[in-house]
Amino acid sequence: MKGLQRILISSCLVIILVVLSTGCGVGSLFAPKPYKETQFLMDTIIDITAYGQGNEAAVKAAFDEFRRINELTNRFDDNSQVTKINQAAGKAKVQVDADVITMLKLARSRSEQLGGALDVTIGALTELWGVGHKGEFVPSQPEIEAARLLVDYRLLEIDDKERTVFLPKAGMSIDLGAVAKSYANRRAIEVLKAKGIKSALVNAGGEVRVIGTRPDGQPWRVGVQDPRDMEGLAAKVALTEWDSLETSGDYQRFFIKDNVRYAHIIDPRTGTQPREVASVTIVSNSDSHADVLSTAMFVLGVEKGQELLKQYPGTEALFITNDGKKVVTPGLAGKIEF
Ligand code: ADP
Ligand code: MG
Repeated sequence: MKGLQRILISSCLVIILVVLSTGCGVGSLFAPKPYKETQFLMDTIIDITAYGQGNEAAVKAAFDEFRRINELTNRFDDNSQVTKINQAAGKAKVQVDADVITMLKLARSRSEQLGGALDVTIGALTELWGVGHKGEFVPSQPEIEAARLLVDYRLLEIDDKERTVFLPKAGMSIDLGAVAKSYANRRAIEVLKAKGIKSALVNAGGEVRVIGTRPDGQPWRVGVQDPRDMEGLAAKVALTEWDSLETSGDYQRFFIKDNVRYAHIIDPRTGTQPREVASVTIVSNSDSHADVLSTAMFVLGVEKGQELLKQYPGTEALFITNDGKKVVTPGLAGKIEF
């Protein structure tokens, strides 16, 4: 029942609407047929559209990849490798698959680059808040302080050769919520490419990646959800020089209590919700390895976020502030429609 409830809630809360305008005119009669499939996985709606020979089998294989990464990383699943690491915190190291090592190392390097705004050891805090799981629960300051002591990516011990992970303090826990979907999406794209697909779009609840252009040669165009109007778009971006777009926001998983919005992204340094921005959208190129930036940019806010984004050339951002201002980095200006 709980699973079903979650599915129903999340179905109403898709962050990004992908604008796939169908071509019209004579040419469309001969247009290649897409294969499109939607599945609920990783606590979100995943849409995959692919064109070209073998597209149906390729899409199914891409979904298998999402399923595989979910099985490794789901902290609500007793059998996942992340759960095994968390259960062994303070006691023992745990051997894991190479994918888990890759995700944890990516997260750790991001934490270092971004002053700890992203922290994959944030589990104690996300569990305490339980946004989306505990109703309108606001923890006390001492509870927040206690959980905060269990969050520190610098303590994470990763042994590359042995492929083991160790959390040195009992009660510490890993939460790959901000990382796994992005990683799975990257892997899914690799699977599609390996199957010969040259035109595809994968949307994993606001984490969008594309291959090539639409079959008519036009760029894929992606709509950015208006964070305060679930029916509306705040912007449209044509993915001309980018192949990935990810949004983090406070409108998908949240509750409002006494007029205060409590969302699922937590600042590891304060243990509470950052509130300057309502959403951050990042566009980048897979080659520039700028994955998993939107969560951290949400925590950092407009000024600090823009400054730290300069470390990733070719990566651009749209910040939508809580009071409705839209701020774009220079490389996006003129290439985004409002
Ligand atoms: P979405 O899940 O909507 O794509 P994000 O990609 O921004 O949103 O990931 C948010 C998830 O990441 C949260 O649900 C939680 O599991 C985890 N998380 C929250 N705050 C942080 C943080 N500061 N650093 C790392 N992970 C976080
Ligand atoms: Mg995300």
